[in-house]
Amino acid sequence: MLLSKAEATAKKILAEFGLNEIGILTSTELQTIIQARGAYYEEVELKGMDGRIVTVLGKSVISINKNIHSIGKKRFTAAHELGHFELHKNTQPPADTPYELCNWYQLGSHEKEANDFASELLMPTSLFVQECKGKKFGPQLIKQLAETFQVTHTAVILKVLKANIHPICVIAAKDNKIKWWKLSQSMESADHDFIPGWTKYKIRITSNLPPPPDSVMGQFFKSAENKSLETLQEIDKSTWFLTHPKDNPIMFEYCNYIRDYDFGLSVIWED
Ligand SMILES: [Zn+2]
Repeated sequence: MLLSKAEATAKKILAEFGLNEIGILTSTELQTIIQARGAYYEEVELKGMDGRIVTVLGKSVISINKNIHSIGKKRFTAAHELGHFELHKNTQPPADTPYELCNWYQLGSHEKEANDFASELLMPTSLFVQECKGKKFGPQLIKQLAETFQVTHTAVILKVLKANIHPICVIAAKDNKIKWWKLSQSMESADHDFIPGWTKYKIRITSNLPPPPDSVMGQFFKSAENKSLETLQEIDKSTWFLTHPKDNPIMFEYCNYIRDYDFGLSVIWED
């Protein structure tokens, strides 16, 4: 798989510290890397944001909100800020709010780069692929990967998409409006197998319109208070896609809903 500049930078840093491909970066190692690269790391009270990096007179301070309860989120935020430090030295990136960190594809290129960097630092592609080998794709695998790599479900889902572990479609919506979607692309796997993408399917949604009411995501926006924050359901393919009579109509949709910012991220796949 071709690595972006952000991913290659993360890989290079892991190698520099002798941490490449030997296992998952611990939180202590992550903080050690940040300090050794030359930024100060602190966990402090931050209003309305998860993290930020401030550089004054050549000295950078990475601050992470100490009230973030999820270890995965804390680690991802720290790695994201390190990404800004490594990649965007001469700019002052805006503070990162919780919503921005899950809204991967709708942000400016600097935010996407910092996320790509964090993703590769915490989930090196080769380890991630190994970890997925021979396992059936579904919520169980997403949870297991989040546990193994100590990252959020969102980060895992987007890595599955990027590393093409299984053909999927990822859809994000906020305030009952579709914000972005991505389908797996065809690619060559690490061991030179051809993996077909999902571009053969035509998605039936429009940016800034509500998700289909019969989708799992649509049901969350209708009545979020009555639901658990994640749901898996079998759906009919026509819910999200244009169908052809010969198609297998069965698909699965797994939606993670974050009530605090009325944000939903759905992943859709076939068996
Ligand atoms: Zn950022």
